[in-house]
Amino acid sequence: MSNTSEQLFQRAQRSIPGGVNSPVRAFRSVGGTPIFMQRAKGAYLYDADGKQYIDYINSWGPTILGHAYEPVVRAIQQRAELSTSYGAPTELEIDMAELIIGMAPNVDMVRMVSSGTEACMSALRLARGYTGRNKFIKFEGCYHGHADAFLVKAGSGLATFNIQTVPGVTAGAANDTLTAPYNDLDAVEQLVQNNKDEIAAIIIEPVAGNMGCIVPRPGFLEGLRAICDREGIVLIFDEVMTGFRLAPGGAQERLGIRADMVTYGKVIGGGMPVGAFGGRRDIMECIAPLGNVYQAGTLSGNPIAMIAGYTMLKTLRDEPGIYIALEEKTRTLHEGLNSVLAKSGRPYVINRLGSMISIHFSERPVSNFADAAAADNATFNRFFHQMLSRGVYLPPSAYETWFICTALSDTDIDHTIQAAADSLAAL
Ligand code: PMP
Repeated sequence: MSNTSEQLFQRAQRSIPGGVNSPVRAFRSVGGTPIFMQRAKGAYLYDADGKQYIDYINSWGPTILGHAYEPVVRAIQQRAELSTSYGAPTELEIDMAELIIGMAPNVDMVRMVSSGTEACMSALRLARGYTGRNKFIKFEGCYHGHADAFLVKAGSGLATFNIQTVPGVTAGAANDTLTAPYNDLDAVEQLVQNNKDEIAAIIIEPVAGNMGCIVPRPGFLEGLRAICDREGIVLIFDEVMTGFRLAPGGAQERLGIRADMVTYGKVIGGGMPVGAFGGRRDIMECIAPLGNVYQAGTLSGNPIAMIAGYTMLKTLRDEPGIYIALEEKTRTLHEGLNSVLAKSGRPYVINRLGSMISIHFSERPVSNFADAAAADNATFNRFFHQMLSRGVYLPPSAYETWFICTALSDTDIDHTIQAAADSLAAL
């Protein structure tokens, strides 16, 4: 354990609740002291003592091209010379909107915000304003940020810390949130029948990443699409994790399903604080100043976030080989983990789509939150620390997905597989 992190954590806890600015970072469920980072480059994180780790978090998704990707760093530096914020529109915001619209299917217009939470919160308000309906359906174990209405049966930190009800979220704010198990079309159909003409939206992570990685069953998303078409419900894909990662056009392109609205997060800022929501023109035109669905932000479209995101997304658009490389790297990792886990004799499930992957120590397939919760997550927590001690930084919870970046080398993958073999033996 890093000495400096220990000291920093002691100090941090006096001025920051829990010593961290976002709960999952605190290592509460895996135990021990969170590692304080100093810098990162390519596939590696370096902690406050200079120790190197192979990074499988990648800022929870966005560093698809690795940390401190040179063209992004240069673009940020150059743009900062021109001031960091104006509170007035810039051409860069049009370039960014046009780039996103050109890459993502079914996005006619897009509005920038500053986080994934804001993107989902605003998309829900807009879907409600557009349909004139109040209720919406989300899926158990999916996380759509920390706006009140979404903190019901949510994944990520709420699953990690087993928080069932959140003090401060009023019954009124959560009353209109209906939940169904992921991959359960019958449950959705039932909710729709029981709340006829009252449901504004169905929001879903098209590949879930906040209960480990969970892949939609064939026909599930197609079924949601059909229900939404039949019932006049707005289908929102939360592509905060999947957007621009599973394909240049995100999960919509990769899985061939049309969404009415899409939300994005950190990925479109190359890791800067940013988010966006977009979709069908007739829906998007209901937002202020065109319509009365109010939504705003002082730092929305911030030039530094825009240039960072623009530079990264343009690379993703212009170099399709990136997606082939991501797929191959993750497949190699998948096969290697599969072989060492099989030899270990422990029950396990590896779920993967593209460069999103996770391990559950589970006897049964993991296709919804109940499956993820029934897995042996205490073993995952010990596995996490074993891997960490071998220089591999996994997400500190079984309820998170791992992300792969292009900077990850074959040597890094071999090291990770060997570390997994040694970690399993040491458990
Ligand atoms: N949606 C999804 C699918 C997410 O994974 C997250 C955060 N990881 C969010 C929304 C919220 O994004 P943010 O933390 O930027 O508010």
